[in-house]
Amino acid sequence: MSCGCSGNLSDGQAIVDHVKSKGKQNFSPKVPHIISCDCGEAFTLETVIMNCPNCEMTFVVKPCGSADVNNIKQAGIKYA
Ligand SMILES: [Zn+2]
Repeated sequence: MSCGCSGNLSDGQAIVDHVKSKGKQNFSPKVPHIISCDCGEAFTLETVIMNCPNCEMTFVVKPCGSADVNNIKQAGIKYA
């Protein structure tokens, strides 16, 4: 089961671009991780690209790596 996420994408913005290029931005992560944003907000990551509801920081995780919370990256405010 490959989602095409080969290579080492460690930069959040590069991951956002990659996921969007595959049309998978509305996919659900394998695990509904709770995100603790730098602004103090906590929310559930319901799609693999999601903005913080408070400060609009964009969080992203590759669909194939979405079971691991360590794969969640920040991509910048309103990047998505
Ligand atoms: Zn935030």
